[in-house]
Amino acid sequence: MLTKDYLTNLFRDVETKYAYQVEFIQAIEEFFNAIQPFLEKNPIYVEKDLLRQLIIPERLIEFRVPWMDDSGKWCVNTGYRVQYNSALGPYKGGLRFHPTVNQSIMKFLAFEQIFKNSLTDLGIGGGKGGSDFDPKGKSDAEIMRFCQSFMQELQKYIGPSEDIPAGDIGVSSREIGYLFGEYKRLNNYQSGTITGKPLLLGGSLARTEATGYGVVYFVNHLLESRGDSLKDKRVIVSGSGNVAIYAIKKAQELGAMVLGCSDSSGYVIDPDGIDVDLLQDIKEVKRERLSEYVKVRTQASYTSEKFIWEEVTEYDIALPCATQNEIGELEAKQLIDNGVSIVAEGANMPVNLKALELLMENNIIYCPGKAANAGGVAVSALEMAQNAGRLSWTFEQVDIELNHIMKQIFDTCQTTAKTYSYENDFVTGANIAGFERVAKAMLIQGLV
Ligand code: GLU
Repeated sequence: MLTKDYLTNLFRDVETKYAYQVEFIQAIEEFFNAIQPFLEKNPIYVEKDLLRQLIIPERLIEFRVPWMDDSGKWCVNTGYRVQYNSALGPYKGGLRFHPTVNQSIMKFLAFEQIFKNSLTDLGIGGGKGGSDFDPKGKSDAEIMRFCQSFMQELQKYIGPSEDIPAGDIGVSSREIGYLFGEYKRLNNYQSGTITGKPLLLGGSLARTEATGYGVVYFVNHLLESRGDSLKDKRVIVSGSGNVAIYAIKKAQELGAMVLGCSDSSGYVIDPDGIDVDLLQDIKEVKRERLSEYVKVRTQASYTSEKFIWEEVTEYDIALPCATQNEIGELEAKQLIDNGVSIVAEGANMPVNLKALELLMENNIIYCPGKAANAGGVAVSALEMAQNAGRLSWTFEQVDIELNHIMKQIFDTCQTTAKTYSYENDFVTGANIAGFERVAKAMLIQGLV
């Protein structure tokens, strides 16, 4: 059968079977589009119908998370862990606590994680988990009780050599601390069972910075490969969470001018460059809205209830670091009109398929999240290595290693794209390179 027909038929089956899982279908579509040239050269995977195996998670756990709020009211949320693929190593991936979380979001994130983790070359399989619990506006005690209840169930399925969760949206060191505490209470101290831990609990230096730094390292390697640099490049970042903050920091350190960032209620443009210490104080320390920023930096402007990608201004690089599907067709058109030449994903799947097509047609270099934001999970794997060796590396050691890993991922994506005659197409490069290792590992393990 022709590879194209094989993929079309299989995609039709996915659409029918998972009709309501739109984000999952979107992730599969992007992946299928990208790997066709690889399958044409390697017909064994079509002969074995390997993709049909690959798209079904090895295990999908859905569970009830009961908890009590501060007023004594009984509350409940749904918890998930998708153990998608362990061909290359134990399941690895973050936990997301956000009201939009559902099976589709969990599956798309876990599916992407398989190839992202493969690209790091650090022996980790793909997984993801989380809950539709909304940490926003909850007291510390409520967060703690929720995390404890969540872990009471999750602990049955995870462990340092089986499945190693970490953070994602809504899960940072506070939540990881409570999750880790509960895991320890039920299973004794095993530092390597969660990553992204606070330093005192065996966390790694530079893990907090890793995703944001990693995205900028990736872009820097891309620019260097073209004899260019980040110096004086104008950058806009969406989001103001952990990924955005450290992307802004590193971009500024490497000489770029970061003009704006956002949160879920609006965005800030600061013509003198974002004051990242102030941003950190507002978002991380005080947990306030971004509108507070302009009260201190009066030269900056705040626009409420709009996405930052609607901003009309000239700049060079867009770093979407907020959430999935934040850039649709309209936003992509605006980026093109603004003269953007590089889009690199700090978030997972922030650009939808229509927007992606438009960006590619307009020769904008697009760096997909599974390559560009792999720095976070890569340093998680370094945290696991430190835990297993009962060591802790210096910040510099981890940071150098992170930059090295991002360079290697960039080189792999670039070379792979070229090999298949898709030069500068990092979607093709990342998907094929990520998939190739997983597919080979699945094949040599037999039908399992
Ligand atoms: N949530 C992050 C990601 O999307 C990090 C996962 C991890 O460190 O395991 O890759």
